[in-house]
Amino acid sequence: MSIRPEILNKLFSPTTKLQGIGPKLAQLIEKIAGPKIVDLIFHIPSGIIDRRFSPPINTAPPGRIATFLVKVISHKPGATARQPYRVLCVNDSGEITLTFFHAEKDWLLKSLPIGEERAISGKVEYYNDRPQISHPDYILPPQEIDHLKTIEPVYPLTTGLSSKVLLRAIREALTTCLPHPAEWLNETLVHQHGWPSWTEALKFVHAPQSEADLSPMTKARQRLAYDELLASQIALQLSRNHRVKVPSRIINGSGHLQKKARVSLPFKLTSSQEQAIAEILADMANGVRMLRLLQGDVGSGKTAVAAITMIAAVEAGVQTALMAPTEILARQHYKTIAPIAKAAGVSVEVLTSRDKGKTKDRILTALAKGEVDIIIGTHALVQETVSFKDLGMAIIDEQHRFGVHQRLILRNKGENIHTLVMTATPIPRTLLLASYGDMEVSRLTEKPLGRKPITTRAIPLNRMEEVITALQRTLSTGSRIYWVCPLVEESELIDLAAAEDRYRSLAEVFGDKVGLIHGRMKPAKKDNIMAAFRSGGLSLLVATTVIEVGVDVPEATVMVIEHADRFGLAQLHQLRGRIGRSDKSSTCLLLYDAKAGAMARARLKIMRETEDGFRIAEEDLRLRGGGEILGTRQSGIPDFRLADLSVHNDLLAMAQKDAKFIVHGQSVDIEQRKEILRPLLYLFERDAALRFLKSG
Ligand code: ADP
Ligand code: MG
Repeated sequence: MSIRPEILNKLFSPTTKLQGIGPKLAQLIEKIAGPKIVDLIFHIPSGIIDRRFSPPINTAPPGRIATFLVKVISHKPGATARQPYRVLCVNDSGEITLTFFHAEKDWLLKSLPIGEERAISGKVEYYNDRPQISHPDYILPPQEIDHLKTIEPVYPLTTGLSSKVLLRAIREALTTCLPHPAEWLNETLVHQHGWPSWTEALKFVHAPQSEADLSPMTKARQRLAYDELLASQIALQLSRNHRVKVPSRIINGSGHLQKKARVSLPFKLTSSQEQAIAEILADMANGVRMLRLLQGDVGSGKTAVAAITMIAAVEAGVQTALMAPTEILARQHYKTIAPIAKAAGVSVEVLTSRDKGKTKDRILTALAKGEVDIIIGTHALVQETVSFKDLGMAIIDEQHRFGVHQRLILRNKGENIHTLVMTATPIPRTLLLASYGDMEVSRLTEKPLGRKPITTRAIPLNRMEEVITALQRTLSTGSRIYWVCPLVEESELIDLAAAEDRYRSLAEVFGDKVGLIHGRMKPAKKDNIMAAFRSGGLSLLVATTVIEVGVDVPEATVMVIEHADRFGLAQLHQLRGRIGRSDKSSTCLLLYDAKAGAMARARLKIMRETEDGFRIAEEDLRLRGGGEILGTRQSGIPDFRLADLSVHNDLLAMAQKDAKFIVHGQSVDIEQRKEILRPLLYLFERDAALRFLKSG
């Protein structure tokens, strides 16, 4: 770890250093922002409250926050514990009652002494036609009324944390902990855009005077977003630079095993598969450690690319590993790759947490001795007991389900090994830049030959009966059908109950042809059900969304997605990718709630229009805007705190250019600028990259 620039010391103290923030409140703050003061200053307001509003009491509109100067007349404790405690107050414009539930009498008498004046603020309500405020937000001495009458920022909160406490903490953080660092951005750029300094920008963001000030397009927000994007781009460039500089082993086979493997393939590789293979082999042969992302829709044929390149690596004398996120996927990869490897005379094993005892020991010993060339498995591969004779290349499928940490452990099982990451998430170009800027990218853009397009239709939920009747006809032709149940709640259990209900109702119609699969099942049971579905023993499979992303049942030609309006675009696309995998035509039925909002309808429309994952991803980013979370979290895209890629797109491209210039440029000016940039990198905790700054 690098040494923290001194000017940031206060910002990186725990929030408990702020007045009135004890361990309990700190925990709540951690939930919404983070453990440190810097997290608080990056917690930006989501709204405003205008406390300047101070109408005559007798005309105060209900439901609106208002501030009044009043005189306390009398206290009326509730007759029973359930009744509220009332404090009657007046001014020239009328009477208002302050009500308190579960009141502490002593505290109320002290804060609202009879006969004295107080400044109060809170939401006005009417009870029996009389104005009241229950639990005012503020009760202050009368001379504080001017302080009170301001526009107050509203922050995202969590239960137990009041806006007042949070506001006070943030205000203190802003006044006592904000440093004034030297400008780390290019002065010309700052000038051109009319951006405020970092410190001024933060102050502005926390003191919005209107709704417009909350926009991510204000100069202050743009500046802060740019800072964050620049920090992340510099970190990516630095780590890429570092990787490229460390010499790596050269893996360059003669091609003889690869040739045998290719001959055994039951199909001809598409030209994008060929191109990806060439790119991967070139990476491994050129003496630079490979870190490449292979992107391709479900069904685009990533596994074949993995198989050929692994065999090519084996041919050059190293072992290779393929890690998949689930048991089903690992075994499916094994099934696909084993025959190809066998044809080439390469030994393959599969290892998951299900393998125990003798089998496991045998595989581990063989791996360590170098008798296994290709190992396919789940995260079981990163266990301590797994060692290789000479691991030279690792492939990680669906990387977003693995932490970067696991990727590193696997990498450390060999020396300077080459890594290929495969993902079925079509990540828009902009997001790629933001999150995988340190990787090279290959894309599979074609569908394997012979695939028919999928017909997608949107049908209102209230026509489900008709759909079921139609399915009856489809089933009689021997097709396989997926029925995907909606995401109802955050809770998996509730989703499960919905899927079970649907399973029962469909079983009433279709009998024992119907199966159910969900995430809570034991892996062996899931495998059995998938096997039955694959073989045709089951022909209609009811599933929660947890059915595996890469599951390959070419006979499945129909997918019904119930409540498609509740799914994100990326998810709908992933789901639909499970059909249309053969030369028979396929149909996807999106059942939607007629009451669904405009956004949901827009998503369904795009689904009907295109099957192109990359276009869908771009549309998703555009539609989603900053607010909705769906998609990004699953795809491993970093959560930016101040930048919002749906609106700060152009800033990202600028930041990338700037970062390249800083990292690769050589001049006295740039050396100076790197020094000045240290606090910025540290601020966004890209400090791991800092150690590369020195070495250049
Ligand atoms: P992905 O992992 O990208 O989802 P897979 O590698 O599982 O895709 O391939 C999906 C299916 O397509 C498999 O059944 C595979 O055998 C088949 N396939 C792969 N490449 C081709 C190709 N070039 N032509 C025809 N079929 C292919
Ligand atoms: Mg796959």
